[in-house]
Amino acid sequence: MPNDGLDLGVRVLKNRIQPVILTAGIAVAVFATWLGAGWGGPDVTAAVSALGSLGFSTLAFGCALTAAIRTPLLRGRAWLAVAVGLFGWVVGDAIWACYGLVLHAEPPSPSIADVAYLVLPVGTIVAFVITASARRLVGLRPLIDGLIITSSLFLVSWVVVLRQIFAAYQGSRAELATSLAYAVADVFMVAISVLVLTSAPPSHRRVLALVTAGLTTLAITDSLLVYLNARGVRTSDLLVVGWAVGLVLLSAGALLAIRNTDHEAPGKPHSSRLWQWLPYVPMAIAAAVGLIFLSSITAAIPVLVSGGVLVGAALIRQLIMLLDNRTLLDAVADQALRDPLTGLANRLLFSDRLNHAMEMRDRDGRRVAVLSLDLDEFKLVNDNLGHPAGDALLRAVAERLVTVVPTGDTVARLGGDEFAILIEDGPQPAETTAQRVVEVFDKAFFLEGEEVFMHPSVGLAVTPGLEDDEATADELFRRADIAMYAAKRAGVGGVQTFTADMRHVDRTETQSASWHSGKRRRSPVAGIQLLGQLRRAIDDDELDLVYQPKISLTTGNTVGVEALVRWPHPEFGVLTPNQFLPLVRQNGLMGAVTDLVLYRAAHDAVTWYDAGQCDIPVAINLFAPSLNDLALPDRIAAALDRTGLPPAALSVEITEHLLLANIRRAGGVIQRLRANGIRIAIDDFGSGYATMSYLRDLPIDELKLDRQFIAPVLRSERAAAIVQSVIDLAHALGIACVAEGVENEDTANWLREAGCDVAQGHYFARPMAAEALRERCQLGCSNSAIFPITN
Ligand code: C2E
Ligand code: CA
Ligand code: CA
Repeated sequence: MPNDGLDLGVRVLKNRIQPVILTAGIAVAVFATWLGAGWGGPDVTAAVSALGSLGFSTLAFGCALTAAIRTPLLRGRAWLAVAVGLFGWVVGDAIWACYGLVLHAEPPSPSIADVAYLVLPVGTIVAFVITASARRLVGLRPLIDGLIITSSLFLVSWVVVLRQIFAAYQGSRAELATSLAYAVADVFMVAISVLVLTSAPPSHRRVLALVTAGLTTLAITDSLLVYLNARGVRTSDLLVVGWAVGLVLLSAGALLAIRNTDHEAPGKPHSSRLWQWLPYVPMAIAAAVGLIFLSSITAAIPVLVSGGVLVGAALIRQLIMLLDNRTLLDAVADQALRDPLTGLANRLLFSDRLNHAMEMRDRDGRRVAVLSLDLDEFKLVNDNLGHPAGDALLRAVAERLVTVVPTGDTVARLGGDEFAILIEDGPQPAETTAQRVVEVFDKAFFLEGEEVFMHPSVGLAVTPGLEDDEATADELFRRADIAMYAAKRAGVGGVQTFTADMRHVDRTETQSASWHSGKRRRSPVAGIQLLGQLRRAIDDDELDLVYQPKISLTTGNTVGVEALVRWPHPEFGVLTPNQFLPLVRQNGLMGAVTDLVLYRAAHDAVTWYDAGQCDIPVAINLFAPSLNDLALPDRIAAALDRTGLPPAALSVEITEHLLLANIRRAGGVIQRLRANGIRIAIDDFGSGYATMSYLRDLPIDELKLDRQFIAPVLRSERAAAIVQSVIDLAHALGIACVAEGVENEDTANWLREAGCDVAQGHYFARPMAAEALRERCQLGCSNSAIFPITN
């Protein structure tokens, strides 16, 4: 890594901060004592004074320069400005040293050294302006306030003290101007630094406090110099020590700033009330003093100048305050339309945009679509991982949603885990957007270091729709909601598009449907308690399997069984998969459940499987995401090995609607399973995504037609036509067809006529315990008694 050396350097530097400051502090003490005691006579003290001063200013310059290099962007630039100012100080001290040690004289007053020293106030003011500019216009307020305070103080001190001092002054005009420049620049510099300090975020306050203390010390020492100069004294050892202390404080500030780059979080700049009113205090005093002065004496130039600056600055400040208030008002107005957690539109903005879109539709017939989205089992995240995790999840969902929705469309959070998307006419059809929204949830979310799968129920309503009338904005929104409820009820994932028959769905049914999911349901137990029990049940191997026979429609024989998991709950009785698998999935327990089911099913199947005699294979269900696990084929092989079940006696049913996510990887896993001799079935075909590409690209043995697909075949010719073609298609591809949820004889007969190979359903047999199945096998594996074969 090329940065290693640099990092090491910074680390060493950071660890050396305390020793450096300690040494500098001791040096100042020795310096002061030496000058005070006058060790070695006047020549030696003069040399110590000159070289010592130069040393302290060089130290401060070095520290500021290092801070300029080591601290990030804006602050780095600010420190550079300070470093330039301190370089001026180094030059000034060097000039003094040259005069004192080489020429044995004092530099003329004023000299080039004074110009050099005055670079520091300019540099620090620039630095403060740079720091403050991050906050745009508001950031300029310390500058303006500094100006107000400085001119007020100057006005007051001019009237009260300076006037007399300068009247009695004997030096040149240039010297007078220099002294004035020192005074004004110093007051300005200190005022600004105090103002910046009061409004700084807590994390920067220690650095700024050190810098302000340093600058104040320098300024006080300068004022002493002005005072002494006015009395005809050029320099004093006391002054030299004052400057040294100020410079060491500045050095400490710079070094602390370097160390603070570690905890970068700046926090909110705080704006205290005191800060707002502070400048008015000296202003009021100055106004009073100025009035008294003007009424007694004729106006003097300094009073006019400082008074003018004061009024100008006050006006600018007022203007800035006005603009600042405007920005604040805008921000408040914007916030009233935004969801504070995610930054998405809120309900107000959403309905505003929806109304507008509906007006456009009325005018030129554009399509408008509303997508209603509700997270399944979101409450469990809050309950189990805590509210911060819940908030993080909502933010992550918002971020993902925004990426798949075309710009111009509105993504809103309506509250809780409810989102809505307004899709206006554009190149991407609403259905595509809806599809992409669902796919956003294929990838896990990372919360508190845990992988959490979160699935939405998504309802879509489009206008003008198929049967369209003059749907209003409210009606469209309601339809999307109804479709979303339908999606929740179906529990199969994917998008439900609103259809007229959904309108008749009893809402109370929706609301009491499954107590385990969503906040709209009343749950008899807290999710957290249930999750604990579930974990224990899995650990203690307490889940049960029931087996539902699959019947050959041509022979009437049981040609297989499907293992279905059950949770015998001590209080609530036997829970079905729909009641607890979402909890399993949410909490990353799916792998453990699959293993449990796999071992149990293999273990049970060995007791009846007997190739040639009773070769009834067992099928286990697999959620498609399990197929992303490249170790799955080996785990299954190990289970077969341990239980002694031949691979031919096992098939896996893959829930089709979830397969979409990672088809290539899943394809690889499926290939390997199949190479091991295990049969593969696609489950629930016909619900969710009926993607033909699976049939084409994946090596599949069996296609299971979903119950929702089979149920209407007797009533609807169209449904019958579809089932018939799927059967034909499967056969053309050499895939066997299994009909699910066959509940009556007529359907069974129809399916047999249609050429369907195998059927499963309550008409033939309900899921049963392993024991019951064994008894059935002993009867000879045939179902002819149950299933009358009519030729
Ligand atoms: P599935 O794979 O489609 O299983 C068939 C479901 O339909 C079973 O519900 C079964 O009891 C039910 N069923 C069978 N015949 C009829 C019928 O004639 N009429 C009606 N109305 N229903 C019938 P179950 O046991 O509640 O399982 C629901 C779903 O849970 C399963 O749907 C499957 O996707 C999943 N599941 C069950 N066991 C497991 C498991 O061990 N692992 C995984 N990953 N999923 C499982
Ligand atoms: Ca199944
Ligand atoms: Ca199924």
